[in-house]
Order: sequence, then structure tokens, then C-alpha cells
Amino acid sequence: MSAPDYRKGLHDLGQGCHAWLQPDGSWGWSNAGLITGSGTSLLVDTLFDLPLTREMLDGLRPVTDAHPLGTLVNTHSDPDHINGNELVASRDVEILASAAAAELITQETVDAVALVKKLDGTLGDFARHIFGPFALDGITATGPDRTFTGEESVDVGGREVRLIQVGPAHTPGDAIVHVPDARLLYAGDILFVGGTPIAWAGPIDRWIAALDLILDLDVTVIVPGHGPVSGKAEVSLMREYLVTVQTQARQRYEDGLDVDAAIDTIELGKFAELPEHGRLAQNVLNVYQQLDPTIPRPDRLTVLTKIAALEGFAPDTFSTATS
Ligand SMILES: [Zn+2]
Repeated sequence: MSAPDYRKGLHDLGQGCHAWLQPDGSWGWSNAGLITGSGTSLLVDTLFDLPLTREMLDGLRPVTDAHPLGTLVNTHSDPDHINGNELVASRDVEILASAAAAELITQETVDAVALVKKLDGTLGDFARHIFGPFALDGITATGPDRTFTGEESVDVGGREVRLIQVGPAHTPGDAIVHVPDARLLYAGDILFVGGTPIAWAGPIDRWIAALDLILDLDVTVIVPGHGPVSGKAEVSLMREYLVTVQTQARQRYEDGLDVDAAIDTIELGKFAELPEHGRLAQNVLNVYQQLDPTIPRPDRLTVLTKIAALEGFAPDTFSTATS
């Protein structure tokens, strides 16, 4: 297979489906999608900040001039998929998200991500390192106008688009967006390509089940939440990563190792060189929490500190980070 075209911007995927890609797909560099029907269109996700979302909305104009936006679907609640919502809400667009995602789209969450860039110390340094390019101040959290649970069918100018809730997996309210007549899927962050997935919510079993559901769908083109346009081979590969982590973490739990010892000894094999490999810290913690619900769930900032340490950003803080 030839290397995918992973240039930033609008990609025509055929049959009225498009992707807006943002290399390199690492922290905050998310993808969006656009599905057109007769005289209207549906946008899948906004971006991490307002300038990037504005740039995207301008870049989509060759399509949206003839097919104005009628609907926005947020695949989940993470800021890199919802922070630009206010720019879309100011148009006459209905915003849809799963009920579980909607609960987490709050001003508090949006502001917390902006604040972490201003912290002193290792965590602030790491946040400035990964979130440096993004303008995270002054964003107004904008949730959906309508929510759904389970499955929802949306009519986009005479064309059926299916929303399928598969979370909790990556986050509590993950949904995927299926365009049956184009055999195409927007997977949101249920699929990371070229980087390491992170199970903020889990259980990982549910994420694996979501990937199995995708593998069973009649689709040939899959747009991941991060990374180049892909297909089922990339879904299978990410499934293999999750199974590897889950199997090894379970084994170490049964052997009596604590979380940090498990993280230190897991052998990722061909996945060891994946970008953002430090996300292993959260993935192992997630498996341990399923096996022992009394293990505390640290907030994301604590987890970010562990990820930074694991990636060698600040090795000294790793042993003292609490789990
Ligand atoms: Zn994302």
C-alpha cells in the first residue's frame, strides 16, 4: 500500500465525504470530518482552539458554500474535539453528542486544560511542551443542543448517517459516525493511527469490543481521531496494542506487582517505539482499576505527570508520583 496522503487540510474521500486532517496527530492535533447531503452537511467534531477551527471552517468553504452546515456531531467530550463548538453554534447548526459526552463538556474542563499550561514545575513544562501551539484561553464551553444514548440515525439531506455510542472506552461518551452508503466511518478517538491510544475511561474490554464492532461493519475507509485516513488494518493493529497491554497488565496484577512495577516491566514489542508511548501509564492503571476497583482514579494532571516521566521528560518525578 502506498503511503497515505497526510497533508494538513481538506481531503476529498469521495461520495460526499471529506476529512480535515491535522498532522502529526499527537496531543491536540485531531481530525474532523464533513459529510454532505442534498443542500446541507454534517460536521464531525471541531478542533482544539478557535484559530484552528476558524481555519478549518474557512477551508471547508469550497464544500459548505453549496452544502451549508446543518449539524455538528461531537464524537466525544475531549477538548481537542469540542473546543471550537462556539464558532459553529453561532451559525444555525444543531449540535449532537452522546448524553455521557454532554455531561463532560463543561467550562470547568475547558478552563482546566488552559490552566495546566500555566503551572510551574514539570507538569507545566510538559503541558507547554505538548499544548504549546494551541490558544486555549477564552474558550466558551458549548455543549450539544440534543443528546442521544445508544444509536441515533441522522438525515443529512436525504442521506442516512448513523451515530453509534461505543463508550465508555477512550472517554465515557465515545461515539462513532457511520456513513453506510459510502462504506465510510469517522471513528473519533476510538482509533488512533501512528500514535498510542489512551484509555481515560475504559474498561479496555469495551474499547476492544468497539474495535470489533468496527471490524464487523461494512466499511472500507476509516477516518481516525488522530492520524492519516486508514482502514481495517489499522483498526486491527490498534486492537493488538490494547490486547497486549491488557494481557500483560493482568498477568502482573496476578503476580502481585503494583501499578508502577507493572508499567516498568511491560514489554510492548513492536509498539515500544510508538509516539506517545508514555500513555502506557494510564492504560495499565486502567486495567488495574478494572481488576481492583479500590485503586484510586487519579485526575488527568497526575496521569500526565506519569506520562511525562515515562517518556523521559522528567525521570526524577516518576518514582514519587502517586497512583
Ligand atoms: Zn483527540
